[in-house]
Amino acid sequence: MVTAVVGANWGDEGKGKITDMLAEKADIIIRFQGGANAGHTIINDYGKFALHTLPSGVFYDHTTSIIGNGVALDIPKLFNEVKQIEEGGVPTPKILVSDRAQMVMPYHVLFDTYEEERLAGASFGSTKSGIAPFYSDKYAKIGFQVSELFDDEKSLKEKIERVIVQKNALLENLYHKPLLTVDGIYETLMEYKEMVEPFVCDVSAYLYDAIKEGKSILLEGQLGSMKDPDHGIYPMVTSSSTLAGYGAIGAGIPPYEIKKIVTVCKAYSSAVGAGEFVSEIFGDEADELRRRGGDGGEFGATTGRPRRMGWFDCVASKYGCRLQGTTDVAFTVLDVLGYLDEIPVCVGYEIDGVVTKDFPTTTKLKKAKPVYEVLPGWKSEIRGITKYEDLPENCRNYIEFIEKEIGFPITMVSNGPGRHEIIYR
Ligand code: GDP
Repeated sequence: MVTAVVGANWGDEGKGKITDMLAEKADIIIRFQGGANAGHTIINDYGKFALHTLPSGVFYDHTTSIIGNGVALDIPKLFNEVKQIEEGGVPTPKILVSDRAQMVMPYHVLFDTYEEERLAGASFGSTKSGIAPFYSDKYAKIGFQVSELFDDEKSLKEKIERVIVQKNALLENLYHKPLLTVDGIYETLMEYKEMVEPFVCDVSAYLYDAIKEGKSILLEGQLGSMKDPDHGIYPMVTSSSTLAGYGAIGAGIPPYEIKKIVTVCKAYSSAVGAGEFVSEIFGDEADELRRRGGDGGEFGATTGRPRRMGWFDCVASKYGCRLQGTTDVAFTVLDVLGYLDEIPVCVGYEIDGVVTKDFPTTTKLKKAKPVYEVLPGWKSEIRGITKYEDLPENCRNYIEFIEKEIGFPITMVSNGPGRHEIIYR
């Protein structure tokens, strides 16, 4: 059976923890989109790890970790990450890389950096991992698939030559930076080939057999619905679809095989990068939530940037869950809210004097003001609680209020960062 683990919001909802937890009973975990631009923090028996490219199931010796065709594959970053977890005492993971995955080229990172510099104040808040230039090239059909590393030298060099004509025109005239050479890029690609060769696989064929054999498969999403290029807060989105439906494409499996969609929602909101964020809070209130948030503060796992903070947004989350096709909501980081006397929850948006519960397009979203309902806090530590009935009444009320507002069942409540800190309902 295939289960997707995806985010309802802006990312950083705790998908890594939920995937790591579900991976205990899974055979295969697949990354199907995105690249090394976002991170998952995982705390388990080996310690604390920040993963960027590897799926969050790599910590078990019974799992196979797959980089699907939909991923922006940064080969040196992938193998650095493998090295890091091995150094942390984790057994060498079993990894497969799709022969159809495309590679982040060194110049993608350069173009990402130069473009953010050029845009200055109007930038997208990119992590400068090369993701936007990578996906632009993929869809402009000038990207490089892993399989092309195994093409003959002449053909590969001809393609590089063709591609860099355009790159060099930009480097020279727009960015005023050093130019690329065919031999330089070819040599880098040959280094990549050496690193990746033992892991290259026809992933969709592998998964076809795995599904037939009844294997338990997890699709792990990166970021969340708000960052989807079609359904999110365009243009302040990421460059590949963050929705469970894309899991079928980015892994190469039939869409009808995805039977369960676990959408991870955090008990408050946070966002990184620029873009609309209606229930955002500021000042001391935000600083305190940021400091107490996650496990040791809400700071980016990739960049260390402080995350923007806000109250739970039912409008965005209802929409986010709907677009994912949610069968189960995993409600995370609830323990963090135990310090609050009262907890505001955003239940509507006021746009031009009219209140709506439907998430609008970006043009309208810019004008939206949050409508809050204030719920009483539970003022206690809920870590360590394992049964739903044992949660304080106000805490259960908070969960049930949100469940009703978003209209999708909260079947798991996470009350701590650890692998087993979970309450099933
Ligand atoms: P992801 O990108 O969706 O995997 O999320 P991140 O890893 O960026 O952010 C989630 C953070 O919250 C991580 O530091 C997790 O260790 C932490 N976390 C996850 N679930 C819980 C929870 O239930 N309680 C607390 N306190 N922290 C959690």
